[in-house]
Amino acid sequence: MPERILAVTDKKLTERLNFYKDMGIGLFYSNRSAGSVSRTLSPRDNNESAIQPQILTEEELNLPKIARKPEIAKAPPMTVTSRAEFVPIPSGPSLFESMSKVADDSLLKIREDLGECTRCKLSRTRNKIVFGDGNPKAQLVFVGEGPGRDEDMQGLPFVGRAGKLLTQMIEAMGLQREDVYICNVVKCRPPENRKPEDDEVATCSPYLYRQLDVIAPKAIVCLGATAVQALLKTKDSISRFRGTWIDYRNTKLMATYHPAYLLRNPAAKSEVWKDLQKVMAHLGLHPKKSAR
Ligand code: URA
Repeated sequence: MPERILAVTDKKLTERLNFYKDMGIGLFYSNRSAGSVSRTLSPRDNNESAIQPQILTEEELNLPKIARKPEIAKAPPMTVTSRAEFVPIPSGPSLFESMSKVADDSLLKIREDLGECTRCKLSRTRNKIVFGDGNPKAQLVFVGEGPGRDEDMQGLPFVGRAGKLLTQMIEAMGLQREDVYICNVVKCRPPENRKPEDDEVATCSPYLYRQLDVIAPKAIVCLGATAVQALLKTKDSISRFRGTWIDYRNTKLMATYHPAYLLRNPAAKSEVWKDLQKVMAHLGLHPKKSAR
């Protein structure tokens, strides 16, 4: 193999190993020193023991991504979740709940309705509208806050540094980016990456609600406070919701930390991994049979 390809593979492997380490998947490392890496399950806490981190064999790590495409069970088993695990939704209907559904809606229609939007002041400074990207029939939707510089340039969500981390998180779940749908609360970049203001969120979020309605995923993961606050129409801090299933219009919603926060606070990655394991359990995601 040419040296350049070896160097690239080596860099990718190192990144993945560091990612697992950050996520607190230590078994990978203890086995590595023994010369054999096994796809062993490491039971976490009680009700999460069915879902285990995807520890790959050295052979698998060299396989093209497609060779270890995840399995999403056709009829995913629902996790029985006790009432105590649910956080009560703030009183009053959310915008989403009070909004009637648009007949025969589709992502294309929503995009057309959005048009070259000038409904809020973010339109004055944006380069490209970042509508959303991924599988329109996804079982899992990730909702972020709003585009950053890279996203604004490319017109695609989560393609910068935080996006790279999100991609790693998705792959650690046994999925590929193309399997999920990724979008944001606001579709235009806030100047200097500031938080979107209330009027901007209020103007843009109905398009997000319609996207979620059309996709009808089995689970929504809110990345950070802005996303969960927009969907639940609350100002409560993310700590009230994080890591706990919220029953939202018959869709399970999990709020977790934003990847940009994780870049600043890598120690929080293990908390996010626990949250994502709950999502995996709900979706019936499991390692491929051949690797067990
Ligand atoms: N942060 C977000 O919230 N969304 C993106 O698309 C990129 C970074």
